[in-house]
This record gives sequence, C-alpha cells and structure tokens, in this order.
Amino acid sequence: MPDSMQTPLDRSYRADRARKSPISGDRGPLAAESVDFPASAWQSMLRGARGRCPRCGDAKLFRHFLKPVRICPACEQDWTHQQADDFPAYVAILLTGHIMAPVIIALVQETELSLAAMAGIIVTAMLVLMIGFLQPAKGAIIALQWWWGMHGFTRERRAPEIAGRDE
Ligand SMILES: [Zn+2]
Repeated sequence: MPDSMQTPLDRSYRADRARKSPISGDRGPLAAESVDFPASAWQSMLRGARGRCPRCGDAKLFRHFLKPVRICPACEQDWTHQQADDFPAYVAILLTGHIMAPVIIALVQETELSLAAMAGIIVTAMLVLMIGFLQPAKGAIIALQWWWGMHGFTRERRAPEIAGRDE
C-alpha cells in the first residue's frame, strides 16, 4: 500500500509491531507453571467479559475501549492473535434485542406515552445496552479463541493436580 493511502492508524500499528519484535519476538508467554489458568472455557470467558486477561486473570485485557493489550503485562500472553472482528457487535445486538423486545412491547401496551417520548426511551436504552455489551462480548470472544487455541493461540490447560483449585 503506498504511503499516501495509509491512515495514521496503519502507521502506528506498523510502528507497534516493529517495536514489539525485538522485545518479545521469540520469547513466548510466561512459563505455564506460574500461571493460574482458568479451569474451564466458562471461567476464561468470565475473565474476558470482566476485562481481565483470560489466561492469568491478573491484568487488564483492554488498553482502550475495544483495543486489547498486545502483551499481557502479568503473564506475557500475546493477544495480537485475537480475531474477534465484528462478532462482538453481533452478540451485543442479539443481547440488546432480546432485552429490549419485551420492554418495547410493554411500553406500547401499558403506557400512554407519545411516539416521540417512546422513541427517545427506546433509542437511548438500546444505545446504552449496545455500548455496554460490546467490551464484555469482545473479552469473552477473545477468551474463547484463546481457550480453543484458534488463530495462532496456544491451547493451554491447568495441570491436572491443581484443577478445581478455585471453584
Ligand atoms: Zn495474562
């Protein structure tokens, strides 16, 4: 891609990658023995949905609203393999729709609100829910991709003797 067609985002992403390679290029994540792996896919999803690293649970997963950290500062997991793409948006729409459908029906059937008032309430509530669900959905999806070893993630599980420690 010619330089004139690049956005500042492309450039900073490339600079990010270039900075990253000498530091953590071949080092790989922190040794598995010192990491508190999740006991189940569900636990890894919960960690991700709470914005914590799904692998160790000790550090933040996101550095911005929907931008995961490149490397977990606690367990050194490389999160650049994640490919959540627009799946979090579908999940957020699905959840918002299921919550709002009965609310909309109740508003229409049980209240005498004007159309404008109803539209204001519905649009506001949907925006709040959509935005609220986006980051937890993305965290949970990244967690699942890691749990199943997708897209270049390494599939890791706790050692059997410590399984079930914190359930
Ligand atoms: Zn971590």
